[in-house]
Amino acid sequence: MGKFDWFWNAMGAKSAKHEKQSRKIVDQAQRQAADFASLSDAELRERASAAITSGGEITDKSTFLAALATASSRKLGLAPFDVQAQAVLRLISGDVIHMATGEGKTLVGAMAATGLALSGKRVHVVTVNDYLARRDADWMRPLVESFGLQVAAVTESMDTQQRRQAYEADVVYAPVKELGFDVLRDNQITERAQAVFRQAEVALVDEADSVLVDEALVPLVLAGSRPDQAADARVTSVVATLREERHYTIDSDGRNVFLTDDGAASVEKQLGIDSLYSDEHIGTTLVRVNLALHAKALLIRDIHYVIVDGELKLIDTSKGRIADLQRWPDGLQAAVEEKEGLKVTEGGRILDTLTIQELMRRYPQLCGMTGTAVEATDQLREFYGLYVSEIAPNKPVQRFDEADRVYATITEKNHALVEEIVLLHTQGQPVLIGTQDVAESEQLAETLASRGISAQVLNAKNDAEEAAIVAEAGLPGRVTVSTQMAGRGTDIKLGGTDGAHYEDVKEAGGLAVLGTTRHRSSRLDNQLRGRAGRQGDPGLSLFFVSLEDDVVVSGGAGESVEAQPDEHGRIDSGRIVDFIAHCQRVTEAQLLEIHSQTWKYNKLLADQREIIDERRASLLDTDKAWAELSEYEPQRADELHAAGFSEDILVAASREIMLYHLDLAWADHLEHMDDVRESIHLRAIARETPIDEYHRIAVREFKEIVRRGVEAARKSFREVTIDASGAHLADEGLARPSATWTYMVSDNPLAGSGNSALSGIGNLFR
Ligand code: ADP
Ligand code: MG
Repeated sequence: MGKFDWFWNAMGAKSAKHEKQSRKIVDQAQRQAADFASLSDAELRERASAAITSGGEITDKSTFLAALATASSRKLGLAPFDVQAQAVLRLISGDVIHMATGEGKTLVGAMAATGLALSGKRVHVVTVNDYLARRDADWMRPLVESFGLQVAAVTESMDTQQRRQAYEADVVYAPVKELGFDVLRDNQITERAQAVFRQAEVALVDEADSVLVDEALVPLVLAGSRPDQAADARVTSVVATLREERHYTIDSDGRNVFLTDDGAASVEKQLGIDSLYSDEHIGTTLVRVNLALHAKALLIRDIHYVIVDGELKLIDTSKGRIADLQRWPDGLQAAVEEKEGLKVTEGGRILDTLTIQELMRRYPQLCGMTGTAVEATDQLREFYGLYVSEIAPNKPVQRFDEADRVYATITEKNHALVEEIVLLHTQGQPVLIGTQDVAESEQLAETLASRGISAQVLNAKNDAEEAAIVAEAGLPGRVTVSTQMAGRGTDIKLGGTDGAHYEDVKEAGGLAVLGTTRHRSSRLDNQLRGRAGRQGDPGLSLFFVSLEDDVVVSGGAGESVEAQPDEHGRIDSGRIVDFIAHCQRVTEAQLLEIHSQTWKYNKLLADQREIIDERRASLLDTDKAWAELSEYEPQRADELHAAGFSEDILVAASREIMLYHLDLAWADHLEHMDDVRESIHLRAIARETPIDEYHRIAVREFKEIVRRGVEAARKSFREVTIDASGAHLADEGLARPSATWTYMVSDNPLAGSGNSALSGIGNLFR
């Protein structure tokens, strides 16, 4: 540690001295790698293992890097650049590396993961989608395996057994949502052998700012059928009044339904709430509304369900037959029943939820990589205690970032945008346009079509297909329209994937990236810019902004600005550019504030979950449940002993009873605290802030639910039939959900887009 490292650390940067040192190490490693070429795979493995301790400390950095680099050249045909080697060291030491798009982060991540795994740590490489998890695991497999380590990918389509096996690997590539769903599902098991997930020591997060910041507060939800819970009929009946087109729109592929602004307003009015997208409602009412809308708009009789004897039966669409015990969660079932004029049966309910931030904080060691880490320095430090290391590009950046073009109105802006696309297109330059949402993408593509340009449109619907499309976005004259999420992680080579037209496109100025507005944070702008100018290629980035854009309206609220637009509505003044930058800083600050506030509410529940988890683990792994119950209820214990049941049976039955009531209590607690949060601003009295009041209630209620859980377990222990097949909880109406579903609320309060349509529900039926 240098004397002033504390200062640089505090600044979220690393000292210059540090960098000089690491450059020396990397130089040495390059020289060593030349000698290592003659070593066998096994010898390389020995060298690398010997250079890292079981604590993950690298004792001989140059040898370690040389061994990994040699294996990379040999197995992948990629000789790591110096900057990649430097990045590997920073990752292993636990930083988030800032490394531009196209610099080869996949390899860097795999080398770091290999190193960490060699030190005996299991590593989860966290990706943003299924496609990237599979691609990267397959791509990097030869490297990781050459060190005698196992590598696997977890993806949505895998079943329990396949997942369980994948988690055994030393290095596991997995999309963040699948990790979360597996954690949630494992929190419902009643025997250890049913567990699927295996906690890793390290999470290495790709696109770290997207996962750790933008999607941090996205709740992953596990819902299940529960006989004792009625659905929220009010939401169902309100949603029943909504009309297609005016209040909601359906995706062309019929998988998602979106509320329009009109629709949201109508629901808000009918429910008598301020905003569905406010803190209080985003994770609760909005989820219910969305489920009900899903039922109304997307679930079709005889395709998704049938009606048999006045009862709703779900059809398992993959198998095409009736799924007997299945129910839809929450208001979904009730909404369909109401739509069909059936008796509304009791509904399912949310069993557990977990935010991505909570999930990622569970890893003892966290590190990550992204092209836009520096811009997320504050958030990474505040929410995860992470520091950012900036890695220089392999070749100097040649991209030209043009000053924003500002217009008075959206209409004028869009007009100018289309003209610019047409111009670049005729010059043979490939153009990639980043839009705010699917609707904007489709509108733009339509307009372009009317100008004789057929654009490729990506909407983050099918990641694999879109990766193939975006990979070709560098072809001469190609026009690609893409939302922020679509095609991420895919390299855009100038002149197309085969590079046949490289020189033509280079001549034409490289890839031009156009933004249809400035986002609510400059970090999101930079994510888009980064798609051009990889590895020293020429390129252009240019944003079109209007004074009617979200970022200006919400960031500049209450401020006035003097502007003199020309006849095309363009305002060409430095002052206006400054003003827009100012508006963006305001919205950035707002987002950070929302994040901090929301996290304050979540944090307490996260801590309480840890207590529950610990309790769950000890109930699963020991005979504690039986010990406690037989101590509380000695008479019943004697009775069971007298009946001649083996210790194993009694332990298992007690465990089942205890876990059932613990899980029920926790689900009740989550639901209750949701309600408290909705009304906390009303409850908080003058002398207390809402958050303090919330904390007070949460702590009190938590103690209460734990107590109630034990009490209910004692009652069940006394009353429920116990025999060789276990505890017959179902006979007393205490069955666990017969089916569970996972989904994520894919929009969230931190979403960059001001268009507040809540995306549909993914992964609903598994
Ligand atoms: P990033 O994730 O940083 O945007 P990728 O990992 O997708 O970048 O890699 C971008 C491209 O660079 C890929 O085509 C990859 O094969 C290539 N690449 C990575 N490292 C090297 C290397 N050391 N030498 C040559 N090509 C490399
Ligand atoms: Mg990448």
